Amino acid sequence: MSTKVYDAIVLGGGPGGYVAAIRLGQLKQKTLVIEKDTMGGVCLNWGCIPSKALIAAANLVEKVKHADVMGITVTGVAVDSKKLQGWKNGIVKKLTGGVNTLCKANGAEVLMGEARFVSSDTLEVTTPEGKVLVQATKGIIVATGSRPVAIPGFEYDGKSIITAKEGVSLDPLPKRLTIIGGGIIGMELGGVYSKLGVEVTIVEFMPSVLATMDADLVVPVVKAMTKSGVKFITGTKAKSAVKQADGSLLVTLETPEGEQKVAADVCLVAVGMKPNSDAISIEKSGVILDKRGHLVIDEECRTNVKKVYAIGDVAGAPYLAHKASKEGEIAAEVIAGHKSARDWRAMPAATFTHPEIANVGLSEREAREKGLDIVVGKFPFAASGRAMAVSETDGFVKVIAERVGKDKKDHKIIGVHIVGPEASDLISEAALALEMDAYVEDMALTVHPHPTLSETMMEAAKHAIGEAVHIMNR
Ligand code: NAD
Repeated sequence: MSTKVYDAIVLGGGPGGYVAAIRLGQLKQKTLVIEKDTMGGVCLNWGCIPSKALIAAANLVEKVKHADVMGITVTGVAVDSKKLQGWKNGIVKKLTGGVNTLCKANGAEVLMGEARFVSSDTLEVTTPEGKVLVQATKGIIVATGSRPVAIPGFEYDGKSIITAKEGVSLDPLPKRLTIIGGGIIGMELGGVYSKLGVEVTIVEFMPSVLATMDADLVVPVVKAMTKSGVKFITGTKAKSAVKQADGSLLVTLETPEGEQKVAADVCLVAVGMKPNSDAISIEKSGVILDKRGHLVIDEECRTNVKKVYAIGDVAGAPYLAHKASKEGEIAAEVIAGHKSARDWRAMPAATFTHPEIANVGLSEREAREKGLDIVVGKFPFAASGRAMAVSETDGFVKVIAERVGKDKKDHKIIGVHIVGPEASDLISEAALALEMDAYVEDMALTVHPHPTLSETMMEAAKHAIGEAVHIMNR
C-alpha cells in the first residue's frame, strides 16, 4: 500500500476539525481532513444546529399560543412533525454541504473514511474504495469528538430508548417523553417537546436540574418550563426502562421517597458524553490519556507526542463547539509555525432553554468560594422597556466584578451571568469585556442603543457601582 504524504492531517470533521483544516489551508499547509460520517460532526448533524432549529419552532408555537396578551388571537395551532423535521434537515444539509465546500475552497482535501493510527505520524483509513495510508510530516490533529454515555438499565434501541441524536428527529411526536438527565441537553430538548405538545418528565439525579449553575439562574427556567407543563423529578436516580406488551415503556426511578414508576412512549437518556478516543488505535501513537479517556494537551493543543495534537471534546471539557473551533485554529497555527495558545479567561457558554442562560467567567458562587473581594450588579429584564415590548421579561443580568487597584476603587469584571431573552447573543459583549480586562466602569460608561435588551448589561454594570438608573441602587 503506498502512503500519501501531507503537511497536516485532521482526524474528524466536526466544528473542531473542519475549522482546523480551513485554517491550515489558509496557512498554505498541504492538509487532509478525514471524516467517517458526514462533515460537521455532532454540532451540525444532530447537536447545536438541529436542536436550535427545533427550539426556534417550539418557541414560535409558544409565542403564538400566548399572543392574545398583544390582542392577537390565534386558534388551531397545529404542529406537522414531518414538515418540521424536513425544514430542520434542510438546514443541516445546507450547512454540512457548506463545510465540505469551505474546506476544499481553502485548499484542504476531504477524505471520507474511518482512520486509525498505525504510528505517531501515519494513519490507515478505511474508505468505501478500500484502505489507504496517509502520513503527516508536521502534525496530526485528533478531533474525534465525543458520544453519549450509556447507563445500565437503559439499552439504546434508537426508537424508544434513545440518545439526543435520535432526540432531534422525533417523528411522529410521542405522547409521553421521559428524559433521564436534567443537564443542558435534557433541559433544551425537554423545553422543545413540551411546547410541541408532548407530556415531558425530566428525571435528575442531583437535587436540582442544571446543577452546575448558580441556583438563581436556574429558577426562572424551571418556573417557565413547569408553567409550560414539564414535570421535574429531582434527587432521583433512573434505574431502568422496560418495554411493555403494548410497546410503551415503564421507567423505574429511585426517588428519595422510594421506588416510583413512570409510563412513557419514548425515553431520552442525556446523562453526559464521553470522548471518542477508543476506536482510533490511539495506543499506536503513544499519546497519554486521562482517566476519562481524553487526550491530555498543553496550551498549544500538543499531546505528549511531538507531532500529535488534540482539540475539542476528545481533549477535555468544556464540551462546547466554539471551544473546539478555537482549539482548531490554535493547533493549525502552531503546526504552521505561528505563535498561538489557549487562554480560557473568556470562554462563554449558552444554554438554549426559554429563557436562555448564558455566562462567561466566574459565577457569584465561585467568586465568593475563592474569597474574592467582589461587587455584584443585577438588573432584571422586567425593568427593561424593550423586554416588556417583546413580552419577554423573565430573568436578569448579573455582573460580578473584583475590587482592584489603589484603595480598591476599581472594579474589574470577572464574570457575567444572564438568564433571559437573547442571553446567548448578549453574552458576547461580556466575553469581550473579560478578554480585554475591562472594568465595570467601561461597560457602564459605554452608550448602549435604546431601546434594546443590551441596555440591561449597562444597567447591571451601573448597579454594581450604585449608579443604575432604571432600578433602585442599594
Ligand atoms: P450534562 O452533563 O450537562 O447533564 C447530565 C445530567 O444527567 C447531570 O445533571 C447528571 O446529574 C444527570 N444524571 C446522570 N446520571 C443520571 C441518572 N442515572 N439518573 C438521573 N440523572 C442522571 O450532560 P448532557 O445534557 O448529556 O450534555 C452533554 C454535553 O454536551 C455537556 O457537556 C454539555 O455541555 C454539552 N452540550 C452543550 C450545549 C450548549 O452549549 N448549549 C447543548 C447541548 C449539549
